Amino acid sequence: MSALAEFLYNRTVRTVRQGARRYVVGKVAPFDQKNEMFRRPVWDEKLLALGEKFYRTPTPPRDRPGRSLKDQALINASWHLENTCAQGVGDGRMGLYAWQWEEIFQYPRVPPGFRIDTADPAAVTRDIKRAARFFGAALVGVCELDRDWLYAPAFSRKTRTSVPNDVPAEYRYAVVLAVEMDYEAMRCSPEGPASAATGLGYSKMAFVAGLLAHHIRGLGFRAVACGNDTGCSIPMAIDAGLGELARNGLLVTPLYGPRVRLAKVLTDLPLLTDRPIEFGVWGLCRVCKKCARQCPSQSISHGEPTDRPNDVSNRPGVLRWPIRAETCLAFWARRGNDCSNCIRSCPFNKPPGTLHDLVRWGISRLPRLHRLFLWGDDVFGYGSKADPGRYWSI
Ligand code: SF4
Ligand code: SF4
Repeated sequence: MSALAEFLYNRTVRTVRQGARRYVVGKVAPFDQKNEMFRRPVWDEKLLALGEKFYRTPTPPRDRPGRSLKDQALINASWHLENTCAQGVGDGRMGLYAWQWEEIFQYPRVPPGFRIDTADPAAVTRDIKRAARFFGAALVGVCELDRDWLYAPAFSRKTRTSVPNDVPAEYRYAVVLAVEMDYEAMRCSPEGPASAATGLGYSKMAFVAGLLAHHIRGLGFRAVACGNDTGCSIPMAIDAGLGELARNGLLVTPLYGPRVRLAKVLTDLPLLTDRPIEFGVWGLCRVCKKCARQCPSQSISHGEPTDRPNDVSNRPGVLRWPIRAETCLAFWARRGNDCSNCIRSCPFNKPPGTLHDLVRWGISRLPRLHRLFLWGDDVFGYGSKADPGRYWSI
């Protein structure tokens, strides 16, 4: 980050006392993973037909940009690492998300019993964050693990049964990681390049979290890598100071907006925690509604925040704009690929640049000008769909 970018960032982002608990207004019950939207289609009678369409119906390529064979091949290649080498708690804890290994390749071979000195947790935390960035994280933060964000229980898609989610009590910390998704590809949502950016995001999550967990184990401590499994990533990311909750139901980060995927490493390594942050997301969301307008299935609320769930996929007791997960997934199933319009359209989704840093500062510090910033966003065409055919020639 340049000196000017750092100067503006420090004047844009404020630390606050409470993390995700600042949105809690009622009793927060443990969230059963079987109610998560990608698991309901395998057991919920109401959604079985949708599940059949979403998980099993082939989508023949079409002779048009964004839906062609090369687009489909790019999407499937992007998901390959996650699909073949990283399955979380509900799907057998395999590969990069495994919790135990028979034998681990080492060169140099470290004799057993070595462990880093943790007398200076600030230095240890600095080194862990450095390692996370080395492996490919765009953002990294640390929080104490709030066990209310863990799934209880987890759910296996394969066996269609609940499975225990037994995260050991000694795992007191979560290192929360964000990987960036390609800006130009995301501009093509809901067409192929954006779906490929999403798939690659998932593969990068597994890569970065899996390697970081392995690094921590190499330091003599215990660590497990998790993608979307084991617990809800968004509240952990808020606790770890990575961003704020937004109308689109996603985490919005200061530098990349919602254009990130989240993973986490749970560990017993003693670390220094980060402070949660605010930078004007909640205030802009109240007037903006771009994601709600550009949602093709109208699954995003145009109204005020509420703690009333739409269905079992929303956790009760949390003040926010609950997403209609059923209509969102139905849209994906109907088209045969996913959608990211709620990421593409968000004014916080911008490439790096001084002008964008200034606007972010303005959004955070000058709420009276929110409508002016939104007008500018529309006038300059930000958030609108790009031609997926052009993506291949950029
Ligand atoms: S993914 Fe697409 S359909 Fe689903 S909520 Fe976002 S914009 Fe709407
Ligand atoms: S598009 Fe607007 S309303 Fe939606 S999350 Fe982004 S800032 Fe909030």
